[in-house]
Amino acid sequence: MNLLKDSGVELVFVLGHPGYYPRKGFTPAGVLGFKAPYHIPEAHAGAGMVQELCSGKQIVDKIRIMGFNTSPIGAELKIKWSNCDAEFQMAYMESQCPSCKMVYGVTPCHSHSAQFVKAAGVNY
Ligand SMILES: [Zn+2]
Repeated sequence: MNLLKDSGVELVFVLGHPGYYPRKGFTPAGVLGFKAPYHIPEAHAGAGMVQELCSGKQIVDKIRIMGFNTSPIGAELKIKWSNCDAEFQMAYMESQCPSCKMVYGVTPCHSHSAQFVKAAGVNY
């Protein structure tokens, strides 16, 4: 995975056991709108999984360059933040925790889901 990340790969898909791959950071791809290039029987729909390899810094850099950092998120995301116990609504694609000053970012195409919000660094 580190090799893929270092070579610029942003998304990795697997067809595997849903009891194993989530422990390695994969999440169900179907519910996020990703369709497999082949038929997966309904009983095994959870086997198609995806993992995003972008770092939080890469995401925040990207949305700043594209001018999306100040764009409001359609449905505000309320998530459990990784850096401290404070909770706040993430109203913009780039938002800063008022408590610990951690900067979080999410890309426009992933802003529907809190699981894609990544931390870039304190006061990044
Ligand atoms: Zn915080």
